[in-house]
Amino acid sequence: MEKREELYRGKAKTVYLTDDSDKLILLFRNDTSAFDGEKIEQLERKGEVNNKFNHFIMSRLEEAGISTQVEALVSDTESLVKKLKMIPVECVVRNVAAGSLVRRLGVEEGQSLNPPVFEFFLKNDALHDPMVNDFHIVSFGWATEAQIASMKALTFAVNNVLKKLFDDAGMILVDYKLEFGLDKDGEIVLGDEFTPDGCRLWDKETRKKMDKDRFRQGLGSVVETYIEVAERLGIKL
Ligand code: 5GP
Repeated sequence: MEKREELYRGKAKTVYLTDDSDKLILLFRNDTSAFDGEKIEQLERKGEVNNKFNHFIMSRLEEAGISTQVEALVSDTESLVKKLKMIPVECVVRNVAAGSLVRRLGVEEGQSLNPPVFEFFLKNDALHDPMVNDFHIVSFGWATEAQIASMKALTFAVNNVLKKLFDDAGMILVDYKLEFGLDKDGEIVLGDEFTPDGCRLWDKETRKKMDKDRFRQGLGSVVETYIEVAERLGIKL
């Protein structure tokens, strides 16, 4: 597989074309951003840790029957993935109240959510990723009703797999964000990434934050803590 020119540069990853028109290479960079790109820092080793973390999680999801775009690790910081036409919405599931839910509704951080809460956000940094619902998504043509139903079902299926995976490793999966796309056959496939940059993980006993909130809130030891999460899951770095 030969890497070709850059297709797109996101806040933390760069996407490259390859000599296969159905495949892309994702490069996980050390750039770490928060507040819609207002705070950006380079954190040494983060690209490598997130690339291997994402590959491990996506492989567990594939084993559980959830189709993902990840094909293979191609270097410490790069993965080969299927090319998808991305749907421009973020799917968030929350098992415990935190983050924007707490700010929006004035509820207490740490409250368990039964059933878990599902939310859609439009991917748009300039508008600060506003919350949208099914009607906006269908009316503006971002996805069909059937695709919305698939995204919801898959996001909850991911919850069942990953809640247990993290629980077994002594952590609570508080919430997470997924993005989906359509493959060349028009099937919904999980894209983007699953790393501590896009989820919240708390230690089960101490409730120590083990995700990007360490960066957002200036708590320090960001990559060190991501490595601790990876080691608890048995990921080889
Ligand atoms: P919140 O809405 O509380 O800010 O985020 C909910 C969950 O989705 C958190 O785990 C957060 O990390 C993730 N999330 C939401 N929006 C984004 C985003 O634009 N980028 C990343 N990396 N994660 C996001």
